[in-house]
Amino acid sequence: MSKIVILTGAGISAESGLGTFRDEGGLWAQHRIEDVATPEGFARDPDLVHDFYNARRQQAATAQPNAAHIALARLERDYAGDVVIVTQNVDSLHEAAGSTAVLHMHGRLNSALCYGCGHRWDAPPEMGLGTPCPACGAAKTRPDVVWFGEIPYFMEEIAHHLAAATVFASIGTSGQVYPAANFVQEARAFGAATVELNLEPSEISRAFDTRRFGPATEVVPDWVHSLLA
Ligand SMILES: [Zn+2]
Repeated sequence: MSKIVILTGAGISAESGLGTFRDEGGLWAQHRIEDVATPEGFARDPDLVHDFYNARRQQAATAQPNAAHIALARLERDYAGDVVIVTQNVDSLHEAAGSTAVLHMHGRLNSALCYGCGHRWDAPPEMGLGTPCPACGAAKTRPDVVWFGEIPYFMEEIAHHLAAATVFASIGTSGQVYPAANFVQEARAFGAATVELNLEPSEISRAFDTRRFGPATEVVPDWVHSLLA
């Protein structure tokens, strides 16, 4: 049974209009990462952090999946083997495109998390620290996203997928954020063929067997077409 494991990063959502903290301009440029994307920043000023994620949630709500997201959904639907997406993105564009096997290792904008009891629920468009937890009633609501200094979600499950992968693809990732930057090595160690699809060579480009460079909306549909041919 062949199994394709696909890691996606900000580069696949860029052409849907969602910027990242490396882009100039946009939401991230107005803030320091340590203020809006760390547990310490949240402890200092939870209102600022909630405002930032409320704005990102509203921006993501208007974004549409692009040809790359749609091609990966088609791959899951039409490929004879197993297809799993591990995404670093907190948007829901893979799901909007029709993918169903998606692991959000850095959490989701559309999810709320209670610091008190660990309960998760669908995030309202606007939320704050005082938004009560539906399970325990505590006013300790935070965005259900993984911040710098926190452990990503699904690490054990991801390790199992990487060990079973016959193909590992990295799409639109910088290769600078760990532990995701190590996935190519893990998949290779277990015998997977590895491919990087990115706008330009990443920091870890040489770790891949093959590389395809260009906009995600071009290289991803081409790659999917070659797999299904
Ligand atoms: Zn709670």
